[in-house]
Amino acid sequence: MSVPPSASPDTIAAIATPPGRGGVGIVRVSGAGLEPLIEGVAGRVPPPRVATVATFRDGAGAPLDQGLVLHFPAPASYTGEAVVEFHGHGGPSVLRLVLGRCVELGARLAEPGEFTKRAYLNGKLDLAQAESVADLIDAATATAARAAARSLAGAFSREVHALVESLTELRMYTEATLDFPEEDVEFLRAGDVEHRLADLRAQLAQVLAHARTGALLREGLTVVLVGEPNVGKSSLLNALAREEAAIVTPIPGTTRDPVERVIEIAGIPLTIVDTAGLRDTDDAVERIGIARTWAAVERADLVVLIVDARAAAHALPAAERAILARLPAALPRVVVHNKADLAAVAAHADARTDDGAIARHVWLSAKTGDGVTLLEREVLAVVGADHATEDAYLARERHVVALRKAADHLTAAAGHVAAVPPPIELFAEELREAQQALAAITGEFSADDLLGVIFGRFCIGK
Ligand code: GDP
Repeated sequence: MSVPPSASPDTIAAIATPPGRGGVGIVRVSGAGLEPLIEGVAGRVPPPRVATVATFRDGAGAPLDQGLVLHFPAPASYTGEAVVEFHGHGGPSVLRLVLGRCVELGARLAEPGEFTKRAYLNGKLDLAQAESVADLIDAATATAARAAARSLAGAFSREVHALVESLTELRMYTEATLDFPEEDVEFLRAGDVEHRLADLRAQLAQVLAHARTGALLREGLTVVLVGEPNVGKSSLLNALAREEAAIVTPIPGTTRDPVERVIEIAGIPLTIVDTAGLRDTDDAVERIGIARTWAAVERADLVVLIVDARAAAHALPAAERAILARLPAALPRVVVHNKADLAAVAAHADARTDDGAIARHVWLSAKTGDGVTLLEREVLAVVGADHATEDAYLARERHVVALRKAADHLTAAAGHVAAVPPPIELFAEELREAQQALAAITGEFSADDLLGVIFGRFCIGK
């Protein structure tokens, strides 16, 4: 690991439970030599990893709270340092008193994500796993939460390590060739370098596809809904949302507008922007809403245009056409022909060329539910979520970018190895850069500013 563990870390403390009232509230402390602090709060140091009842007291010996003390001596703890947790009552004032007592005894307030950062620096987690801790907490859907838990358990990191291992092996052959230049071509042939490289690229393409799905699970999609009144937009949203799926928490960092609604398809959070609110208006407040909706529309990943299956031949009204005209031409779109039941058309999907661009068309009935799964499938295919989300691991855009970078270097490497004679040094350099890109995912090579960005987005106490 390129980041050396800090020589003698100071003691950090934070309230680890969310603000507000609750049955239990936890103050967590991490550092070295915590015994005096534990004694100062709880009167005595309990045996390691045994939940022990104690009265928490202030400096004058007056009781602050009564609860459990849990002591994890180093290195068998979350951070790898000594950790103590005071489980008291979950009220903001009482927790602040206990936290204040810890500060009095030498701790300082922890920064966001500092516990997990220490876990990473002490080798308890790699960087991808540390990120999945925050992603698990922030997961907007149950599928995203499961995927984050798989990443935390190391599923993604293992795939990346497997790639790095294959790459290392390949580099071994190549570096050996560099040392004996007169035998280079034979060496490459003997090492079956071309085949190994092809295998590695296939392996990488798979991980990349999984990671892309994982990033979708985390980041979600913005879908713009266009259609005239009464065409069945609300009915379709309800059909897509189904029962429990309709209750989805907003994705952190996005503000929810009245015109936005979050549903999920295959566990991917979809923010639906209804363009019904985009019509011209003189109302100042409405105009602000419209500006915000347009901002969302311009960030959209997909347009779903809804028409009445009986009126497919008719042109869209001017308002809808104006909206479509303002959308980027490259934005993928799916056309839904709703009320297929009334048009006596069976649910089906096909592709058509509209204005020169190919769009997918789906005939369905929001009322009977026929064809709704066809639409779900189209949406997932259009945005490239071609992998089943049930066994996905959560990934971030950062990981996808790093995997793409590695893939580009391997493509360049394949070009070199196919040349006659192969420019071995350039080939070796591409392999080296591919490996660095992969290592950045798990944090074996990482810049301090990257760590700041990653851990700064955590909540306090984690
Ligand atoms: P919106 O104004 O676009 O949101 O449209 P609604 O969802 O409110 O639907 C308008 C009307 O069309 C309602 O009476 C719905 O019950 C009806 N409707 C919507 N989808 C279908 C469908 O697929 N088949 C039939 N028969 N009626 C539908």
